Amino acid sequence: MAQKGKFQAIKGTRDLLPPETELWNWVESTAREVFGTFGFGEIRPPIFEPTELFARAVGGETDIVSKEMYSFAENPDLGLLEEMRGYAINMFDLYKENADPGFFILAVSNLLAAVNLRERAGEVGIDSNSRSGCDQLEHLLEKLPPYDWSRPSPTIGENESALLTQIFFRVQLLTFSDRVSLRPEATASVCRAYIEHNMNQWPAPVKLYYLGPMFRRERPQKGRYRQFYQIGAEVLGGTDAPGIDAEVIEMVMTFFAKLDLQGVQLEINSIGHNAPECRRGYVEKLRAALVEVKDNLGEDSRKRIETNPLRVLDSKLEHEQAIIATLPKIGDSLCGECKGHYAEVKRQLEMRGVAYRENWRLVRGLDYYMRTTFEITAQGLGSQNAVCGGGRYDGLVELLGGPPTKGIGFAIGEDRLILSLLEARKEAASGEERPASGRVGCDVYIAWLGAKAQATAIAAARKLREAGLRVELPAVEQKFGKALGQADKLGAKYALILGEDEVASGQWTVKRLADGLQEKMAAGEVAEYVKQKK
Ligand code: AMP
Repeated sequence: MAQKGKFQAIKGTRDLLPPETELWNWVESTAREVFGTFGFGEIRPPIFEPTELFARAVGGETDIVSKEMYSFAENPDLGLLEEMRGYAINMFDLYKENADPGFFILAVSNLLAAVNLRERAGEVGIDSNSRSGCDQLEHLLEKLPPYDWSRPSPTIGENESALLTQIFFRVQLLTFSDRVSLRPEATASVCRAYIEHNMNQWPAPVKLYYLGPMFRRERPQKGRYRQFYQIGAEVLGGTDAPGIDAEVIEMVMTFFAKLDLQGVQLEINSIGHNAPECRRGYVEKLRAALVEVKDNLGEDSRKRIETNPLRVLDSKLEHEQAIIATLPKIGDSLCGECKGHYAEVKRQLEMRGVAYRENWRLVRGLDYYMRTTFEITAQGLGSQNAVCGGGRYDGLVELLGGPPTKGIGFAIGEDRLILSLLEARKEAASGEERPASGRVGCDVYIAWLGAKAQATAIAAARKLREAGLRVELPAVEQKFGKALGQADKLGAKYALILGEDEVASGQWTVKRLADGLQEKMAAGEVAEYVKQKK
C-alpha cells in the first residue's frame, strides 16, 4: 500500500527511465529501419477500441477477453443507464430466488425514468431499438396491477408472473453502452483499419507494422506486466504463398540479429486449417486419445479435453510431459494442401538461411488461426522466455466483417526483448563503466566562469549540439574545480573550459576527462576535435 500522499505506479505498470529508454529508442528505430527495408509501413491505431472488436478477434472465451481487459463505458451517462439495466437484471434474479418482485419492478421503473430524464436533458442519444424497447416496457409496466408496498412479498398470480418474465426479456434486449477497452493486442485493430480504409484496394499484400503499449490485467511477474509493449507486423491481402510466411519470419530474425539478441530459438509448426479432413479431424483424434489417459492428467488438462483439447499441448506440468509425448501429432493429420504449404514454408526458410526447430506442440486455440505458427525465445528471461509469437490467420478479417483476406503476422514482446538485451549487456559489461543512473551520457561539459563567458558558452553549446554532440551547459556559474567534478559525475568525455582568457583570446581549452590531457584550440575546431576523438 502506498503511504499517505505518496503515489506509486499501479501494480503491473512501471516507469521506463533513462538511460534504459535509450535502449528502447534504439530497439524501436532498428525495428523501423529493418521493417522498412522489407517494405512495411507504420500504422498507429488508437489505444482503445470497441470491446466487441477484441471479443470477436481474440475470442470471448479466452482469458484475455473474459477477465484481463481494461474496459469502460465510453459515455458515462450511457454507462450509468447500462449499470441500472444490470441492476434490474440482478433484481429479477433475486425475485426468481423468492425475493419481492417489487424491487425488480422498481428497478425497471427507475431505469425508464432515468432514460427519459437523460434523453430530455439531451445528455444521451438512445438508439431506435432501445427507444422502442423502452416504450414497450412502459406499456408492459402499465399492465401490472398497482404495486402495494405496504404488503411485503405479495403472492404473484400466473398472469403477473408471465408479465414480469416478458418485462425481463425486454430489459435484457436493451443496450445503452458501447463499451470500449484498452487494446490487449493490436492485430484486431490492424484488421479493423484494413476494412475501414478499404485497403483491399491497395496494392496487395498490404504490409504494416506497429509499436506501442498493450494492456492486460495479468498477474505481474518478471517479464509479465499489465502495461507492456509490443512491436508487431501484419501482412494482409494477396496470396497465402509460403514465401510470405517465410519472409515474415526472416524479417523478425533479421531484426533480432541486428540487435544482437542472444540465444534466439525459432520454433515453427503448422496447425492446418479448420476443416474435418484437417485440424478438426485431428482435434477429435486428440480428444479420443486424451480420454484414454484422462486419469493420469491434472485437473486443468482434464477440463480442456472437452473445452479445448489443443490447449492440453501447452501444459508445462512435469508429470504430463511423458503422456503428451505419446499423443497423436498434428503433422500426421494435415490435409494434403496444408502439408504441402508447411513443407514449402520450411524449404523457403532454408533458402533464406533461417534456422528453425519444429515443435508439433505449438498450437493456437482459435478457429481462424491456420497453417504456419511460430514462436521465438531468447536467453535471460526465465520462465517467460517467449519474445515473439506469430502465425497465419486467414479468416480474421472476414470474421470482423471484411472480405475474405489472407493474413499473417507476429507480435514481439518489447519488454522481454529489452530484458534479454540488458541481461546480455550485464554479462558482457561486468566491470566496465556504465553511465550514471538517470543520465544518458555526455560528450562535452561546458565549464564557464563570468558573465562574458556565459554568453560564449551558450553560443558554443548551440554549435556543438548542431554538430550532434551531447552537451551539458550548467545554468549557474560555478568554480572550475566544482564544474569539473560535476562533469566527472555525469561521465562526460570532455570539458570545455571557458574563462575570461579564453573569451578574450578566442583560444578555447578542451580537457579530456579520462586522462586530464588539456589542449587549446580555435573555437571553430572544438566540435571536430571531440567528434574525432570520441
Ligand atoms: P501474444 O499477443 O499473447 O501472442 O504475445 C506476444 C508476445 O508479447 C509474447 O511472446 C510476449 O513476449 C509478449 N507479452 C504478452 N503478454 C505480455 C505481458 N503481460 N507482459 C509482457 N510481455 C507480454
